[in-house]
Amino acid sequence: ILEAVAGPIWLSEHACSVTASVGATLYPGDQGEPDVLLRHADQAMYQAKQQGRNRFHVFDPEVDREVVAFRKLRARIEQAIVDGELCRQYQRIVNFSEGRVEAVEALARWRHPERGLLAPGDFLPMLEGTELMVKLDDWVLAQVGAQARVWLAAGRRLGLSINLSVHRLLTPGFINHLTQLLRDCPGLQPADIQLETVETKTSVGIEAVAAVVRDCVELGCTVALDDFGTGFSSLSYFRALPAQTLKIDQTFVHDMLEDEDSLRIVEGVIGLARTFERRVVAEGVESSAQAVLLRRLGCDRGQGYGIAHPMFAAQLAQWIDQFSPAPAWTAAGNGH
Ligand code: C2E
Ligand code: MG
Ligand code: MG
Repeated sequence: ILEAVAGPIWLSEHACSVTASVGATLYPGDQGEPDVLLRHADQAMYQAKQQGRNRFHVFDPEVDREVVAFRKLRARIEQAIVDGELCRQYQRIVNFSEGRVEAVEALARWRHPERGLLAPGDFLPMLEGTELMVKLDDWVLAQVGAQARVWLAAGRRLGLSINLSVHRLLTPGFINHLTQLLRDCPGLQPADIQLETVETKTSVGIEAVAAVVRDCVELGCTVALDDFGTGFSSLSYFRALPAQTLKIDQTFVHDMLEDEDSLRIVEGVIGLARTFERRVVAEGVESSAQAVLLRRLGCDRGQGYGIAHPMFAAQLAQWIDQFSPAPAWTAAGNGH
């Protein structure tokens, strides 16, 4: 059909040509009623146009089912925010040498009525790059602010680490939003807040992210590069962003006792942080041996199951009051 349509059409002595975009769906693979089949074919035609015209596209019921399921899940997550099914756990970030809890990192959870307590990996990827991600990040910010007010009223001052999607950082008005949050929390200092961000998949937009990060720093907040070392352009990111903290990704920490290369990467990141006078935090510290080695390598801060699992705010106060650092951490001595 496309070939036939593409042939020249003569209007007197002028040769004209047109192209077509064709959409089709195939029954019985696509099990729709006639009007549904037509709609699917129509959808496929739009896809052909989007892909550059002069081509055909065949509707894929499998992909369509996925898209529909995706859309439903997003709507369900949006409802979960409204219904108050989302909540937060907090994980402590400990200073090994001083033996004290320096900050807590807020981690989103979904208390799903049927599936139980879900980790972000079960629902955040579906939101990536959407408006809903911005909504969720704002919700977490507001909730952490409210929690900070409770803690401050009880005389408890804690650093608060908050994960933010790059999409949130790049959505206009972020700095105003953050300023407002601080205004709504009397007693909360900008320096109490650390914003964690991960690398984007490409370096596109790195300048725009850097501009927001600069504004955050100017406001007095700290910015951390999360999962450092796992992206495609970690060093370009490091150079472009005035982030004060590097968080060594947990995969390197996890393997460093058995795997030479992981150990060298951990050493490298700590060295990089030292050279550039940045703070470094090790993620995923699961054992005392890892904590001791980290200290020896010059990394004084860490978080992980070996120190404490993420927990709800209600359990946290008691944990902090009873916390005493493992003697091995403080005894290890900082190698630098
Ligand atoms: P992250 O910021 O790197 O958070 C650390 C993750 O490692 C958390 O997983 C934490 O539960 C887990 N973890 C902590 N200690 C250990 C350990 O010793 N061993 C192991 N194997 N894992 C440990 P979680 O809570 O599932 O969060 C996953 C990611 O989801 C976070 O990684 C962060 O990137 C993202 N995230 C979490 N909450 C939010 C949020 O409110 N907003 C945004 N935008 N992202 C969030
Ligand atoms: Mg984080
Ligand atoms: Mg991380």
